[in-house]
Amino acid sequence: MKAAVLEGIKNLKIKNVPDIKNVPDGYVKIEIKSVGICGSDIHYYEYGRIGDFVVNKPMILGHETAGIIENPGNSKKFKKGDIVAIEPGIPCGHCEYCKRGDYNLCNYIKFHATPPVDGSMQKFIVYPEDFVYRAYPLTTEEACLAEPMSVGVFAVKRSGMRFGKRALVIGSGSVGIMTAIAIESTGSEPVLCDIDNNKINIAKSLKYMAFKNDEINDEYDYVFECSGYGSEFALKHTSRGGILVLIGMGNENIDALVAITKGITIKGIFRYANIYGISLELIKKNRKKLKIFQSNIIPMNDLPAFLRYKKYNKFFKTIVEL
Ligand SMILES: [Zn+2]
Ligand SMILES: [Zn+2]
Repeated sequence: MKAAVLEGIKNLKIKNVPDIKNVPDGYVKIEIKSVGICGSDIHYYEYGRIGDFVVNKPMILGHETAGIIENPGNSKKFKKGDIVAIEPGIPCGHCEYCKRGDYNLCNYIKFHATPPVDGSMQKFIVYPEDFVYRAYPLTTEEACLAEPMSVGVFAVKRSGMRFGKRALVIGSGSVGIMTAIAIESTGSEPVLCDIDNNKINIAKSLKYMAFKNDEINDEYDYVFECSGYGSEFALKHTSRGGILVLIGMGNENIDALVAITKGITIKGIFRYANIYGISLELIKKNRKKLKIFQSNIIPMNDLPAFLRYKKYNKFFKTIVEL
Protein backbone atom coordinates (compact mmCIF):
# COMPACT_ATOMS: atom_id res chain seq x y z
CA MET A 1 0.00 0.00 0.00
CA LYS A 2 1.03 3.61 -0.65
CA ALA A 3 2.37 5.79 2.17
CA ALA A 4 4.05 9.20 2.58
CA VAL A 5 7.36 8.34 4.22
CA LEU A 6 9.74 10.94 5.62
CA GLU A 7 13.15 9.39 4.98
CA GLY A 8 15.23 12.28 6.23
CA ILE A 9 15.34 16.05 6.37
CA LYS A 10 13.57 17.49 3.28
CA ASN A 11 13.25 13.98 1.90
CA LEU A 12 9.67 12.71 1.58
CA LYS A 13 8.83 9.77 -0.64
CA ILE A 14 5.53 8.27 -1.69
CA LYS A 15 6.29 4.58 -1.62
CA ASN A 16 4.90 1.13 -0.99
CA VAL A 17 4.88 -0.18 2.57
CA PRO A 18 3.54 -3.58 3.71
CA ASP A 19 -0.24 -3.75 4.19
CA ILE A 20 -1.53 -5.02 7.56
CA LYS A 21 -3.95 -7.89 7.10
CA ASN A 22 -4.58 -9.01 10.68
CA VAL A 23 -7.35 -7.16 12.59
CA PRO A 24 -7.07 -8.12 16.30
CA ASP A 25 -10.06 -8.03 18.67
CA GLY A 26 -10.92 -4.47 19.61
CA TYR A 27 -9.31 -3.12 16.46
CA VAL A 28 -10.76 -1.96 13.14
CA LYS A 29 -9.16 -1.58 9.73
CA ILE A 30 -9.68 1.83 8.19
CA GLU A 31 -9.15 3.03 4.65
CA ILE A 32 -7.57 6.46 5.09
CA LYS A 33 -9.12 9.16 2.90
CA SER A 34 -8.16 12.61 4.22
CA VAL A 35 -5.20 13.78 6.29
CA GLY A 36 -4.71 17.43 7.24
CA ILE A 37 -1.17 18.78 7.13
CA CYS A 38 -0.14 20.18 10.48
CA GLY A 39 2.67 22.56 11.36
CA SER A 40 4.39 19.63 13.07
CA ASP A 41 4.48 17.56 9.83
CA ILE A 42 6.13 20.50 8.07
CA HIS A 43 8.53 20.99 10.96
CA TYR A 44 9.65 17.33 10.88
CA TYR A 45 10.11 17.62 7.11
CA GLU A 46 12.19 20.80 7.34
CA TYR A 47 14.26 20.08 10.44
CA GLY A 48 13.90 16.35 11.21
CA ARG A 49 13.00 17.08 14.82
CA ILE A 50 10.77 18.96 17.23
CA GLY A 51 12.53 19.47 20.56
CA ASP A 52 13.50 16.04 21.89
CA PHE A 53 11.54 14.18 19.22
CA VAL A 54 14.05 13.31 16.49
CA VAL A 55 13.35 11.46 13.23
CA ASN A 56 16.11 8.82 13.33
CA LYS A 57 14.50 6.33 10.98
CA PRO A 58 11.92 6.63 8.17
CA MET A 59 8.54 7.76 9.53
CA ILE A 60 5.12 8.05 7.89
CA LEU A 61 3.70 11.58 8.30
CA GLY A 62 0.20 12.70 9.26
CA HIS A 63 -2.00 12.74 12.35
CA GLU A 64 -5.16 14.69 11.38
CA THR A 65 -7.00 11.78 9.95
CA ALA A 66 -10.34 10.55 8.66
CA GLY A 67 -11.34 7.57 6.61
CA ILE A 68 -13.84 4.78 6.05
CA ILE A 69 -14.15 1.52 7.95
CA GLU A 70 -12.79 -1.19 5.68
CA ASN A 71 -13.00 -4.12 8.10
CA PRO A 72 -14.81 -3.70 11.44
CA GLY A 73 -13.33 -6.91 12.85
CA ASN A 74 -15.42 -7.94 15.86
CA SER A 75 -16.56 -4.36 16.58
CA LYS A 76 -20.15 -3.80 17.65
CA LYS A 77 -19.76 -0.06 17.16
CA PHE A 78 -18.79 0.07 13.47
CA LYS A 79 -19.76 -1.46 10.18
CA LYS A 80 -17.99 -1.44 6.83
CA GLY A 81 -18.32 1.93 5.08
CA ASP A 82 -18.76 4.10 8.20
CA ILE A 83 -17.05 7.50 7.91
CA VAL A 84 -14.76 7.94 10.90
CA ALA A 85 -12.29 10.34 12.50
CA ILE A 86 -9.20 8.89 14.16
CA GLU A 87 -7.78 10.22 17.39
CA PRO A 88 -4.04 10.05 16.77
CA GLY A 89 -2.71 9.01 20.19
CA ILE A 90 -2.94 5.57 21.79
CA PRO A 91 -2.17 5.92 25.52
CA CYS A 92 -0.93 3.02 27.66
CA GLY A 93 -4.16 2.84 29.68
CA HIS A 94 -2.36 1.75 32.85
CA CYS A 95 -0.32 4.66 34.21
CA GLU A 96 -1.46 7.14 36.84
CA TYR A 97 -2.38 9.78 34.21
CA CYS A 98 -4.30 7.34 32.04
CA LYS A 99 -6.22 6.03 35.04
CA ARG A 100 -7.33 9.47 36.11
CA GLY A 101 -8.38 10.41 32.57
CA ASP A 102 -5.48 12.70 31.66
CA TYR A 103 -4.23 10.34 29.01
CA ASN A 104 -2.78 13.20 26.96
CA LEU A 105 -0.06 13.29 29.64
CA CYS A 106 0.71 9.55 29.37
CA ASN A 107 4.43 8.97 29.10
CA TYR A 108 3.93 5.89 27.00
CA ILE A 109 1.44 7.31 24.50
CA LYS A 110 1.99 6.31 20.88
CA PHE A 111 1.12 9.44 18.94
CA HIS A 112 0.88 9.43 15.14
CA ALA A 113 3.82 10.99 13.31
CA THR A 114 5.77 11.70 16.48
CA PRO A 115 9.03 9.75 16.18
CA PRO A 116 9.40 6.82 16.27
CA VAL A 117 5.63 6.26 15.76
CA ASP A 118 4.35 6.17 12.17
CA GLY A 119 1.57 8.54 11.16
CA SER A 120 -1.56 7.95 9.15
CA MET A 121 -0.67 8.97 5.59
CA GLN A 122 -0.94 5.39 4.42
CA LYS A 123 -3.72 3.69 2.52
CA PHE A 124 -4.89 1.56 5.47
CA ILE A 125 -4.35 1.45 9.20
CA VAL A 126 -5.45 -1.01 11.86
CA TYR A 127 -6.44 0.92 14.97
CA PRO A 128 -8.07 0.42 18.41
CA GLU A 129 -11.78 1.14 18.01
CA ASP A 130 -11.81 3.10 21.28
CA PHE A 131 -9.97 5.91 19.48
CA VAL A 132 -12.13 5.86 16.36
CA TYR A 133 -15.26 8.05 16.14
CA ARG A 134 -18.23 7.90 13.83
CA ALA A 135 -18.36 11.18 11.87
CA TYR A 136 -21.54 10.88 9.79
CA PRO A 137 -22.86 13.10 8.19
CA LEU A 138 -19.49 14.81 7.83
CA THR A 139 -17.24 14.18 4.85
CA THR A 140 -13.75 12.83 5.52
CA GLU A 141 -12.35 16.29 4.63
CA GLU A 142 -14.43 17.73 7.46
CA ALA A 143 -13.89 14.85 9.88
CA CYS A 144 -10.08 15.11 9.73
CA LEU A 145 -10.48 18.62 11.22
CA ALA A 146 -11.48 16.99 14.51
CA GLU A 147 -7.78 16.92 15.41
CA PRO A 148 -7.02 20.68 15.29
CA MET A 149 -10.53 21.31 16.64
CA SER A 150 -9.73 19.12 19.63
CA VAL A 151 -6.78 21.33 20.52
CA GLY A 152 -9.06 24.39 20.61
CA VAL A 153 -11.90 22.67 22.45
CA PHE A 154 -9.56 21.15 25.04
CA ALA A 155 -7.91 24.54 25.63
CA VAL A 156 -11.27 26.20 26.23
CA LYS A 157 -12.41 23.35 28.47
CA ARG A 158 -9.24 23.57 30.52
CA SER A 159 -9.59 27.35 30.85
CA GLY A 160 -12.86 26.77 32.73
CA MET A 161 -14.47 29.50 30.65
CA ARG A 162 -18.17 30.19 31.22
CA PHE A 163 -20.96 32.06 29.48
CA GLY A 164 -20.69 35.77 28.84
CA LYS A 165 -16.94 36.37 28.95
CA ARG A 166 -14.63 38.07 26.51
CA ALA A 167 -11.55 36.20 25.49
CA LEU A 168 -8.50 37.18 23.51
CA VAL A 169 -7.16 34.63 21.05
CA ILE A 170 -3.60 35.43 19.99
CA GLY A 171 -2.88 33.94 16.60
CA SER A 172 -5.60 33.48 14.02
CA GLY A 173 -4.26 30.46 12.12
CA SER A 174 -6.03 27.11 12.23
CA VAL A 175 -5.75 26.52 15.97
CA GLY A 176 -6.74 30.14 16.70
CA ILE A 177 -9.90 29.84 14.59
CA MET A 178 -10.74 26.47 16.16
CA THR A 179 -10.27 28.02 19.61
CA ALA A 180 -12.55 30.92 18.62
CA ILE A 181 -15.25 28.46 17.51
CA ALA A 182 -14.95 26.64 20.85
CA ILE A 183 -15.17 29.92 22.80
CA GLU A 184 -18.30 30.89 20.89
CA SER A 185 -19.86 27.56 21.76
CA THR A 186 -19.64 28.46 25.46
CA GLY A 187 -21.68 31.61 24.83
CA SER A 188 -18.66 33.85 25.17
CA GLU A 189 -17.06 36.18 22.70
CA PRO A 190 -13.63 35.73 21.10
CA VAL A 191 -11.47 38.60 19.91
CA LEU A 192 -8.70 37.45 17.60
CA CYS A 193 -5.38 39.06 16.80
CA ASP A 194 -2.38 38.27 14.65
CA ILE A 195 0.62 39.95 13.05
CA ASP A 196 -0.36 38.62 9.61
CA ASN A 197 -2.95 40.64 7.67
CA ASN A 198 -4.05 37.62 5.65
CA LYS A 199 -4.98 35.71 8.77
CA ILE A 200 -6.77 38.74 10.21
CA ASN A 201 -8.81 39.00 7.01
CA ILE A 202 -9.70 35.31 7.17
CA ALA A 203 -10.93 35.73 10.75
CA LYS A 204 -12.96 38.79 9.69
CA SER A 205 -14.47 36.88 6.76
CA LEU A 206 -15.76 34.40 9.37
CA LYS A 207 -17.39 37.38 11.14
CA TYR A 208 -14.98 37.47 14.04
CA MET A 209 -13.57 40.60 15.59
CA ALA A 210 -9.94 40.52 14.52
CA PHE A 211 -7.11 43.00 14.84
CA LYS A 212 -3.40 43.50 14.36
CA ASN A 213 -1.53 42.68 17.56
CA ASP A 214 -0.51 46.31 18.09
CA GLU A 215 -4.15 47.41 17.90
CA ILE A 216 -4.97 45.41 21.04
CA ASN A 217 -5.13 47.69 24.08
CA ASP A 218 -7.44 45.94 26.53
CA GLU A 219 -6.82 43.25 29.10
CA TYR A 220 -8.92 40.09 29.03
CA ASP A 221 -9.95 37.62 31.75
CA TYR A 222 -9.15 34.75 29.40
CA VAL A 223 -6.26 34.79 26.93
CA PHE A 224 -5.44 31.93 24.59
CA GLU A 225 -1.92 32.04 23.15
CA CYS A 226 -2.02 30.05 19.90
CA SER A 227 0.72 31.80 17.93
CA GLY A 228 4.02 31.15 19.67
CA TYR A 229 4.47 34.91 19.40
CA GLY A 230 5.85 34.92 22.92
CA SER A 231 4.37 35.19 26.34
CA GLU A 232 5.20 38.85 26.99
CA PHE A 233 2.39 40.09 24.75
CA ALA A 234 0.04 37.47 26.19
CA LEU A 235 0.81 38.38 29.83
CA LYS A 236 0.41 42.08 29.07
CA HIS A 237 -3.13 41.53 27.80
CA THR A 238 -4.24 39.16 30.55
CA SER A 239 -6.16 40.98 33.26
CA ARG A 240 -5.28 40.79 36.96
CA GLY A 241 -6.49 37.45 38.28
CA GLY A 242 -7.05 36.27 34.72
CA ILE A 243 -6.28 32.96 33.05
CA LEU A 244 -3.62 32.61 30.39
CA VAL A 245 -3.77 29.42 28.34
CA LEU A 246 -0.59 28.55 26.45
CA ILE A 247 -1.16 26.45 23.36
CA GLY A 248 1.46 27.58 20.84
CA MET A 249 5.03 26.47 21.17
CA GLY A 250 7.51 29.34 21.33
CA ASN A 251 6.24 30.60 24.67
CA GLU A 252 9.13 29.06 26.55
CA ASN A 253 10.30 32.18 28.34
CA ILE A 254 7.73 33.47 30.75
CA ASP A 255 8.24 36.60 32.81
CA ALA A 256 7.14 35.00 36.06
CA LEU A 257 7.22 38.34 37.88
CA VAL A 258 4.44 39.71 35.68
CA ALA A 259 2.41 36.55 36.22
CA ILE A 260 2.97 36.76 40.00
CA THR A 261 2.20 40.44 40.45
CA LYS A 262 -0.91 40.25 38.26
CA GLY A 263 -2.04 37.02 39.93
CA ILE A 264 -2.38 35.27 36.60
CA THR A 265 -3.10 31.55 36.38
CA ILE A 266 -1.14 29.96 33.55
CA LYS A 267 -2.40 26.72 32.02
CA GLY A 268 -0.38 24.70 29.53
CA ILE A 269 -2.14 22.67 26.87
CA PHE A 270 -0.58 19.47 25.60
CA ARG A 271 -2.73 17.76 23.00
CA TYR A 272 -6.15 16.71 24.41
CA ALA A 273 -8.07 13.98 26.15
CA ASN A 274 -11.73 12.88 26.06
CA ILE A 275 -12.65 15.60 23.58
CA TYR A 276 -12.97 14.06 20.08
CA GLY A 277 -16.72 13.47 20.32
CA ILE A 278 -17.43 17.07 21.30
CA SER A 279 -15.11 18.31 18.54
CA LEU A 280 -17.02 16.38 15.91
CA GLU A 281 -20.30 17.87 17.19
CA LEU A 282 -18.83 21.36 16.92
CA ILE A 283 -17.66 20.64 13.38
CA LYS A 284 -21.22 19.59 12.48
CA LYS A 285 -22.51 22.92 13.83
CA ASN A 286 -19.86 25.00 12.04
CA ARG A 287 -19.63 23.40 8.63
CA LYS A 288 -19.84 26.71 6.78
CA LYS A 289 -17.05 28.36 8.76
CA LEU A 290 -14.83 25.34 8.32
CA LYS A 291 -14.91 25.59 4.50
CA ILE A 292 -11.81 27.76 4.76
CA PHE A 293 -9.93 24.73 6.11
CA GLN A 294 -10.81 22.77 2.99
CA SER A 295 -9.72 25.33 0.42
CA ASN A 296 -6.59 23.41 -0.65
CA ILE A 297 -7.00 19.66 -1.13
CA ILE A 298 -4.15 17.82 -2.87
CA PRO A 299 -3.52 14.19 -3.86
CA MET A 300 -0.83 12.40 -1.82
CA ASN A 301 1.37 12.11 -4.92
CA ASP A 302 1.69 15.92 -4.97
CA LEU A 303 2.87 16.10 -1.35
CA PRO A 304 6.66 15.84 -1.97
CA ALA A 305 6.59 18.82 -4.38
CA PHE A 306 4.17 20.68 -2.11
CA LEU A 307 6.70 20.47 0.72
CA ARG A 308 9.81 20.96 -1.41
CA TYR A 309 8.53 24.24 -2.90
CA LYS A 310 7.08 25.40 0.43
CA LYS A 311 3.64 25.82 -1.14
CA TYR A 312 2.12 25.53 2.35
CA ASN A 313 3.02 29.17 2.89
CA LYS A 314 0.31 30.12 0.41
CA PHE A 315 -2.56 28.26 2.04
CA PHE A 316 -4.44 28.58 5.30
CA LYS A 317 -4.70 24.79 5.53
CA THR A 318 -3.99 21.85 3.27
CA ILE A 319 -5.62 18.42 3.27
CA VAL A 320 -4.02 15.43 1.57
CA GLU A 321 -6.32 12.95 -0.16
CA LEU A 322 -5.22 9.32 -0.36
ZN1 LIG B 1 -2.15 18.75 14.14
ZN1 LIG C 1 -0.59 5.90 30.35
